[in-house]
Amino acid sequence: LADMQTLGDVTRGHAAVRPDATAFEFEGRHTSFAALDAHTNQVANALAAAGIAQGRRIAYLGKNSDHYFELLLGAAKAGVVMVPVGWRLAPAEMAFIINNSEAALVFVGGEFADMVVAHSAELEGRTVIAMEAGSAFPTFENWRDAQASIAPDVIVQPGDVTIQLYTSGTTGRPKGAMLTHDNLLTGRRLGREHPMDWNDWGPDDVSLVAMPVAHIGGTGWGLVGLVNGAKGVIAREFDPLKVLDYIENDRVSKMFMVPAALQIVVRQPRARQVDYSRLKYILYGASPIPLDLLRECIEVFGCGFCQQYGMTETTGTIVYLPPEDHDPAGNTRMRSAGLPMPGVEIRILGDDGNPVPANAVGEVATRSYANMRGYWKLDEATAATIAPDGWLRTGDAGYLDDDGYLYIHDRVKDMIITGGENVYPAEVESAIYGHPAVAEVAVIGVPDDKWGEAVKAVVVAKPGAVIDETDIIAFARTRIAAFKAPKSIDVIDALPRNASGKILRRELRDPYWAGKTRRVN
Ligand code: ATP
Ligand code: MG
Repeated sequence: LADMQTLGDVTRGHAAVRPDATAFEFEGRHTSFAALDAHTNQVANALAAAGIAQGRRIAYLGKNSDHYFELLLGAAKAGVVMVPVGWRLAPAEMAFIINNSEAALVFVGGEFADMVVAHSAELEGRTVIAMEAGSAFPTFENWRDAQASIAPDVIVQPGDVTIQLYTSGTTGRPKGAMLTHDNLLTGRRLGREHPMDWNDWGPDDVSLVAMPVAHIGGTGWGLVGLVNGAKGVIAREFDPLKVLDYIENDRVSKMFMVPAALQIVVRQPRARQVDYSRLKYILYGASPIPLDLLRECIEVFGCGFCQQYGMTETTGTIVYLPPEDHDPAGNTRMRSAGLPMPGVEIRILGDDGNPVPANAVGEVATRSYANMRGYWKLDEATAATIAPDGWLRTGDAGYLDDDGYLYIHDRVKDMIITGGENVYPAEVESAIYGHPAVAEVAVIGVPDDKWGEAVKAVVVAKPGAVIDETDIIAFARTRIAAFKAPKSIDVIDALPRNASGKILRRELRDPYWAGKTRRVN
């Protein structure tokens, strides 16, 4: 593993040591490490044959598949940058990313071939290759298999950009974070030198990749398992019953899931009948998790739990809360995102931009090998995010305790200032989530003549339950300070969420602010 400097080294390395072990399993198709190495050579050769020079980009618009990883790893061997495009985006947003990234080739999943035909004018004449047969486009397998599997003669440097991942677009338009081989691999190497139980992989480990590959939680997690030589079971898309099937039938030992997905899985009646004895760890994160949900998951799955905090711009996990800090019996550490990974520095910045002492709340900043190279074609945003000395501002508010544990309050932009007090929506949501009538909840700040901003909760009722505004407000007041409790409740059928399962609070907030100016947007 110490020799794995680039993604190409990863495939070559495993193929040399464990050629016959399964690298990926996808809908009955098994790819060994030897086959993965050969296929990725073919992909690299096919990119060269298509005239795609080192440093250029290709786009992938599709659901999860083993072939996506072949493309990513093959492009890495060719020095070509992969741009995965979220398949839940609107066609205009997809076209924006594809054109803005200047992708030379566009690979599309079978489900999207018709849409691509309908919007072909927006793709400005780009060559399209379909991941599956059934459309007029050439297919990936034919394109790949027309090439020899000898290793391409390309020199790839660890500092080269290899993937351009767009942020989730929770606070605005997605930004393309340029990530290098170093970004992706250094943490894995350090993780081996400082073993952490959840990150201690063996040859029998099976990892479930069920989050979308257009996000770091899909691609990044897929690469964690690959680097560690685990078998990666790839789920085409998130489906709670299939997740339970994979756990039962494919001997899944580790999986990453965002809180919104965990909530859906754990609420399946079948979830309480599944045998979880093979499941060692669930890594969760990417958005705040209500404590009641975490406790329910610990009870139902009965495995180790590990929280992770990070962002696309930090190549995913930079802070993790280890399993031993998940004692449901009143352990306050359960509210923490955890400790910095080896090699990661965390600081909290005050309003003047200078670090504040332990326990003081400010903006979380970080510096490490994991920080992105920058945002693609957004020099101003890059400069506003990463200081010349390497510190990256996360846009998240939080604090470090005396033991160095990081507590994430919420996004700075979502903080509510009511009567001069700061209220973080995630804390209020976590409190209300425990109410028996509430299925889901989002908290926003709405304009208020008296308070400046007033706390409002937008709730989705559990099936058959009736929402009583006074009762929910009273319930919240038993769990959090009165000034944090909502002043009003809206009831809605479903919360607006993006593909990462994150609540789009600005969509709920904006109508209330029409014609008025909020301190931040
Ligand atoms: P955009 O930057 O486009 O608005 P985004 O920030 O949601 O979208 P991501 O990079 O996927 O895009 O998410 C990173 C953010 O997710 C972090 O800045 C933080 O707000 C949130 N997050 C990640 N992990 C956690 C966690 N463990 N607890 C709370 N929030 C988290
Ligand atoms: Mg962000």
